[in-house]
Amino acid sequence: MATERLVVIGGDAAGMSAASQARRLKGPDELGIVAFERGHFSSYSACGIPYWVGGDVTERDDLIARTPQEHRARDIDLRMRTEITEIDVAGQRVRALDLETDETYWTGFDKLVIATGARPVRPALPGIDAPGVHGVQTLDDGQALLESLDRVPQGRRRAVVVGAGYIGVEMAEAMLRHGFEVTVLNRGEQPMATLDPDMGRLVHEAMDGLGITTVNGAEVTGIRTGPDGRADAVVAGGTTYPADVVVLGIGVAPETTLAHAVGLPVGPHGGLLTDLSMRVVGHDNIWAGGDCVEVLDLVAGRTRHIALGTHANKHGQVIGSNVAGGYGTFPGVVGTAVSKVCDLEIARTGLREKDARSVGLRFVTATIESTGRAGYYPGARPMTVKMLAEYRTGRLLGVQIVGREGAAKRVDIAAVALTAGMTVDQMTALDLGYAPPFSPVWDPVLVAARKTVTALRRAGTA
Ligand SMILES: Cc1cc2nc3c(=O)[nH]c(=O)nc-3n(C[C@H](O)[C@H](O)[C@H](O)COP(=O)(O)OP(=O)(O)OC[C@H]3O[C@@H](n4cnc5c(N)ncnc54)[C@H](O)[C@@H]3O)c2cc1C
Repeated sequence: MATERLVVIGGDAAGMSAASQARRLKGPDELGIVAFERGHFSSYSACGIPYWVGGDVTERDDLIARTPQEHRARDIDLRMRTEITEIDVAGQRVRALDLETDETYWTGFDKLVIATGARPVRPALPGIDAPGVHGVQTLDDGQALLESLDRVPQGRRRAVVVGAGYIGVEMAEAMLRHGFEVTVLNRGEQPMATLDPDMGRLVHEAMDGLGITTVNGAEVTGIRTGPDGRADAVVAGGTTYPADVVVLGIGVAPETTLAHAVGLPVGPHGGLLTDLSMRVVGHDNIWAGGDCVEVLDLVAGRTRHIALGTHANKHGQVIGSNVAGGYGTFPGVVGTAVSKVCDLEIARTGLREKDARSVGLRFVTATIESTGRAGYYPGARPMTVKMLAEYRTGRLLGVQIVGREGAAKRVDIAAVALTAGMTVDQMTALDLGYAPPFSPVWDPVLVAARKTVTALRRAGTA
């Protein structure tokens, strides 16, 4: 019998990283670990769904990092298809509902990890639940979408993607690869609202070039269904867009229903609030991580909700260390994210113009055009880099990159510079690798830094 019991709610990235790390540090005699997952899969990569649906990844199971059996072999009692319906904070127990048998029971805990993720936004629109309308949050969703695609006869096949964030544009590519005519309905000014509109416009233009129609300012008011009850069109702004399949990619909200019900602290963006050790504020024996929490934005100096697997895995690692008597902290994020639509790579880190304004920062911007390889080297393709720096101090505030091969991961240079609190002047001297197949002699990020220094000078601050 273990001396302590850890209960984990949520069997994916954050929850199972926490459970696995705790198990690495403490054996089953010292720490019993029970994890509950209401879905059919554990430790899987939702990030891979667009590439599986699109056909780059052929086997669904390749997206599963660790099966329930593999977790159990490591002495983690992972109970699948079991939903936690209530947390009794004072009584240190959770109520479980076995979704296969309808049986309910209580399980006690000494330490609790909440890793319930996020739920997709699904507005209450007419037709939203009709067959043929698909979310892409889980492997089950991906499977259902693939089956729906198979039902659509060859010939003129039309897909409407609602939402032009990174999931929307990745799914647009997946639909294109299945031979669909693709329309993306975007409520915002430009696709990829995580970029400034001037950079989002480049994404829009590239999508046009790929044959993807993007309609900006399109507020969806309903999904039309045909005589068979299946979705056959999306209605937005008074226009009807015919659709053989509809894919929703309209964002997510933290899944904090359980935590809310028992008054655990929730921040302005609806996510649980934790300290740097990922312990829920005010609760010594409860931790939370992944898409259900808010994170500290190190550049803006305030919390945000950012649903990304990269954070969820790190949170899990930190939580697992702390619950097992080790030590770890998650200091916060700088807001780095990368994505792609076909061969167009999209990257951002730090603050957009409107983020900087909203926290009262004055800044300058510079935008440059360059290439990912030396201009003379075969395959050199264009790349646009936009940089923001703080007025007077010259501190780097943000970078956005849109371009072909090599664009996305270049943003990591800026992520490191942001984390280190570098000025753009310091960045100009960074010793980045150079050879013609990999970059021009002045890397595009360095060119952007130099131009930003010039902009600062013009503004009279450098
Ligand atoms: C299509 C798509 C593409 C993505 N691409 C990327 C990418 O390229 N890069 C990136 O960094 N991130 C990406 N993400 C985001 C990433 O997948 C998530 O941030 C990550 O999965 C979050 O992990 P999590 O453990 O916090 O939450 P989740 O993965 O959502 O896991 C939470 C789990 O908790 C379970 N659960 C919830 N409530 C209960 C309950 N009451 N009882 C029992 N179980 C419960 C859920 O069933 C779920 O399995 C993508 C997401 C999607 C959907």
